[in-house]
Amino acid sequence: MKVRSRSLALFVVIILVFALLVPTAQAQQKRLVTIASGWVVGVYYPLAGAMSRIIHTKMPGLRATVESSGASVANAQLIGSGDADFALLQNDIAFYAYNGVTLGAFKGKPVKNMGGIFTIYPELVQVAATHASGIKSIKDLKGKKVVLGPLGSGTEANALQILEVHGMKEADLGKVERIDAAAAADQLKDGRVDAAFFTTGLGSAVIVDLSVTGKVGLVPVVGAEAEALKRKYPFYTSEVIPANTYKGQEREVTTVAVMAMMVARNELPEDLVYGFVKTIFENLPTFYTAHAQAKGLKLETAVAGMPIPLHPGAAKFYKEKGVLR
Ligand code: GLU
Repeated sequence: MKVRSRSLALFVVIILVFALLVPTAQAQQKRLVTIASGWVVGVYYPLAGAMSRIIHTKMPGLRATVESSGASVANAQLIGSGDADFALLQNDIAFYAYNGVTLGAFKGKPVKNMGGIFTIYPELVQVAATHASGIKSIKDLKGKKVVLGPLGSGTEANALQILEVHGMKEADLGKVERIDAAAAADQLKDGRVDAAFFTTGLGSAVIVDLSVTGKVGLVPVVGAEAEALKRKYPFYTSEVIPANTYKGQEREVTTVAVMAMMVARNELPEDLVYGFVKTIFENLPTFYTAHAQAKGLKLETAVAGMPIPLHPGAAKFYKEKGVLR
């Protein structure tokens, strides 16, 4: 009897050990992380999708799911609350978020648990206006129906700063909308709004789609106001949208731009982020097929324009590659 109960006890212990170990091993095998991206009709979303596919095939221990969102401001907040592990966002917004400055969303609420992993490509403030509206300059937006950007976007922040240096406020516009980028495009096509701001990479699906309608043109952000903007908010640079980037765009258009970048949540282990960054760089040809702007990711420029401290996992990778000392 004693022997039987002892072997039974041993059996139970063995089962328990297995029950505890097996699921942990499985969970470790499939660690799940989320990437906060942006508009389905933008550039962040296809780039995040490509990263997720690369991770899926090349890092058996990790799975990355992609979430669409309003983009930059929302993404920084998702990192802050721990609801996203990786995020794409604009470098100006990353700086404001990390330092808790400039934007109401971050003042007194800095997002300190955010570590940079790489910068990618310039995002140009592309102000689309219907030909019918007659809008040719930012000042012409006065009294018009304007989409400032999606809720939680970096675009909205850029739009408000651009209006500010032109001596304008939201109240100077006829009607203001904060809606999804795809909805903004639909409303422009129907003439329900006159203009919409999109801070996004060249060749972004939303602008390509608008250009084929033949009803919409791009408005420049130039002159003394653009200079004032760059002085007040130093993340902006001036960039040119070359002629014929979009259908029917006969002339080049100059506007302002910031940089797209990626961050990781600082609570993520160093080796996980190191592995993520290394895997993406080892699979650049695949990554480059996601969108023309993906080609902006290069080892030599990966930390250029980085406005916040690097995640330790990314820093380790760049040191190993001699990009960082
Ligand atoms: N930069 C945009 C924003 O934060 C998102 C652009 C995109 O999804 O391509 O407003």
